[in-house]
Amino acid sequence: MNYKIVRLNTAAKSDITSSILIIYTGGTLGMAYDETGALVPFNFGQILEKIPTLTSMNIAITVISFPEPIDSSNVNMQHWVDMAYIIYENYDSYDGFVVLHGTDTMAYSASMLSFMLQGLSKPVIFTGAQLPISAMRSDARENLMTSLEIATAKVNGKPIVPEVCIFFNHLLLRGNRAKKVQSVHFDAFESENYPPLAESGIIIDYNYAAIKPFEEGTKLKYLNKLDNRVMVIKLFPGITANVLDSCFETKGLRGVVLETYGSGNSPSEAWFLNCLEKAVQKGIIILNVSQCNGGRVIQGRYQTSKDLKRIGILSGGDITTEAAITKMMFLLANEKDDAEIRRKLITPLTGEMSLNEKG
Ligand code: ASP
Repeated sequence: MNYKIVRLNTAAKSDITSSILIIYTGGTLGMAYDETGALVPFNFGQILEKIPTLTSMNIAITVISFPEPIDSSNVNMQHWVDMAYIIYENYDSYDGFVVLHGTDTMAYSASMLSFMLQGLSKPVIFTGAQLPISAMRSDARENLMTSLEIATAKVNGKPIVPEVCIFFNHLLLRGNRAKKVQSVHFDAFESENYPPLAESGIIIDYNYAAIKPFEEGTKLKYLNKLDNRVMVIKLFPGITANVLDSCFETKGLRGVVLETYGSGNSPSEAWFLNCLEKAVQKGIIILNVSQCNGGRVIQGRYQTSKDLKRIGILSGGDITTEAAITKMMFLLANEKDDAEIRRKLITPLTGEMSLNEKG
C-alpha cells in the first residue's frame, strides 16, 4: 500500500513528551467543502491550519494517510489488514495510535482490529466526526484533541487505556462493545452492555475498573487472515422458508450471525427450526445475537429459544452484531478446527462479551 506520510511539528522538540501515529482512513472528519459545496477529503498536511491548538500539545504527531481516503461505507477486509499492519509495523515507535475513520462502520473496524491485534498493550483510539473539520460547529476538533490526549495518557509510565477504543462526543467506549446509534446528533455511539471506559468533561474521568489492565511484556501479534464467507440474517415477523433456505444455500457459506428477538427468541414453527437444523448439520456455524442493543441472549429462557439451543445454535450472549460478525470472520480464518471456532465464539477473546449466562 502506498501511504502518504506527513510529520507535524506540533511543539518545540525539547517539549515533546509523547509520540502519536494518526492513521487517516477518511470519513467526514477529514473533509472540507470544495468550491462547488461538495465534501471532499482535505490534505492532512494542512491540519495545523484547521486545528491550531494542536501546536500547544507536547506530542510529536505523524500522520499516515490512506492513498485514497474512503467513506467508511466502503471499508473492506483489505482496509482492516492495512490498518492493523500500519499499527503493527509502527508499534514500537509510538506511544499510541489514533485512527480517523468514518462513523458508519467504525464499530466494525474497531471490533475487527481488537481481534487482529492480539497482545495489544498500547492505546488504539478510533474517532471521527459528524461534521467536517472545516464546518463552524464541527465536533472534529474536540474528538481529535481528546483522542490524542487519551492515546498519550499514562500512569506510572504505563498507558491508561491499552486497548482498541472509540472516542466520540465525550465518551470513550471499548471498540468491540460500541454501536453507532445516531446519524444526526453528535452522540453517535453507545455501548449498552459495557460501561464507558472514560468520560471527558473538564477532566478525563477514567473508569479504571472497566479498562483492560496493562500487561507487562506482552508481544503484539498481527493476525491478518480473515474469511468473509459469512452472513448476518435479521429475523422479522413474516420471514419465509424460501428466503431463509436461499440464504443457507449460499455457495461456500460458513457462518451466520442470526439476529433474533429479545433474549434470543425466534419463531418456533417446524419449517423454521428444520431449516436452521439442516444448516447446522451441513456444518454452517450459527451464532444467536439479539436485535436489542441492551441485554443478552439466554437460550432456553423462553420455549421459543430452547429449540435453538437443542439444534446446535450458539449463544452470542451480550455481543453486538458488529463484534459478532467480525469475530466470526476472524475465527473462521485463524482456527483450523470447527470445534475450536465454536468454543471461541462463545468465549470472550478481547472483552467483546461477558460470561454470565447458561444459554
Ligand atoms: N459516511 C461517512 C463515513 O462513515 C459518515 C461519517 O464519517 O461519519 O465515512
